[in-house]
Amino acid sequence: YESIQVGELAKAMGVKASDIIKKFMELGTMVTINQSIDPETAAIVAAEFGYEVEQAAIEEEQLLEYTPPSPEELKPRPPVVTVMGHVDHGKTTLLDAIRETDVVSKEAGGITQHIGAYKVKLKDGQEITFIDTPGHEAFTHMRARGAQVTDIVVLVVAADDGVMDQTKEAIDHARAAGVPIVVAINKIDKPEANPERVKSELAELGLVPEDWGGDTLYAEISAKKKIGIDDLLELILLQAEMLELKAAPDRPARGRIVESRLDKGRGPVATVIIQEGTLKEGDPFVAGITYGRVRAMLDERGRRLKKAGPATPVEILGFHEVPQAGDDFIVMPDEQKARKVAEYRARKQREAEAAKETKISLDKLFEKL
Ligand code: GDP
Ligand code: MG
Repeated sequence: YESIQVGELAKAMGVKASDIIKKFMELGTMVTINQSIDPETAAIVAAEFGYEVEQAAIEEEQLLEYTPPSPEELKPRPPVVTVMGHVDHGKTTLLDAIRETDVVSKEAGGITQHIGAYKVKLKDGQEITFIDTPGHEAFTHMRARGAQVTDIVVLVVAADDGVMDQTKEAIDHARAAGVPIVVAINKIDKPEANPERVKSELAELGLVPEDWGGDTLYAEISAKKKIGIDDLLELILLQAEMLELKAAPDRPARGRIVESRLDKGRGPVATVIIQEGTLKEGDPFVAGITYGRVRAMLDERGRRLKKAGPATPVEILGFHEVPQAGDDFIVMPDEQKARKVAEYRARKQREAEAAKETKISLDKLFEKL
């Protein structure tokens, strides 16, 4: 805001106007109740009363103001899938097998890089995005940070082993997040495989197969022998269709960091899943407490992209610092504003941490008393 009257400032702080006027006098200025004062002066006086006038907060909020897209802006988008399940039940093998079904990679070749997520294009042109960091830890970490990127969980259960602890945990996590589960009964190539037993164990946990009158989709696969992979992908698309996933492609991009690291040669790099809008090379952005400009955008095969739409995972170069998994990623009007928001957030975070420390030491003090 521009300026504030002495009387208004008093009201806002809940102190008497005469006290404020007195304070001004102590500071060597004579003011009247109707006089307008500039924000900096107001901040100084307010601080004397123990207030902090959060000029930056107001600007930051304005800079990040978000208008949800109108229904007309929304277009169908591919689903984003996370693979979960008990250790050794075949998550990594499955993610590798799915990656190989990608028609684009078959045409173009290229060396696959691990960037934390990838998108496959199926024969009929439909697409699915997979988060390539399996396990419920990444999932809960993201969710704890308010970052829900997953639309569907593929629950991998080995047909020779059945429901185990982490299977149950995965179900709990998916349910808590309100994300539907598609079951992949894996390792059906093994002689001791018993898919029916797995189904009944899961049915007891509420995942009743369709052919038993429930609504959970099941695929029987062998990730290792590449049996049933196409069926599983079909089921994922079927589940996605029921969710009617949409996003607005024609606006500045917003997304989430799914993975990040400091690359020796290239500096900070991070994989972002675009959740809305279209990201272009050169776009300025804020991500958590850091910011930057998209210097280059690469897909999981290291190919340069000029733009990326909803549900696309991209590796981005151009961060000032390494962001954290779960951080938001928001395109800003210019780099200066991006920096302002990032610095404000960093300051807030430091303040919150300092406040926490004070509280802890106070708690300790009281313990001793
Ligand atoms: P993760 O811990 O869930 O990621 O499991 P992995 O993908 O690492 O697989 C664990 C082990 O199971 C590996 O030795 C795989 O080769 C094996 N495996 C995975 N899928 C299959 C399958 O469909 N059939 C058989 N026979 N073995 C599999
Ligand atoms: Mg694994």
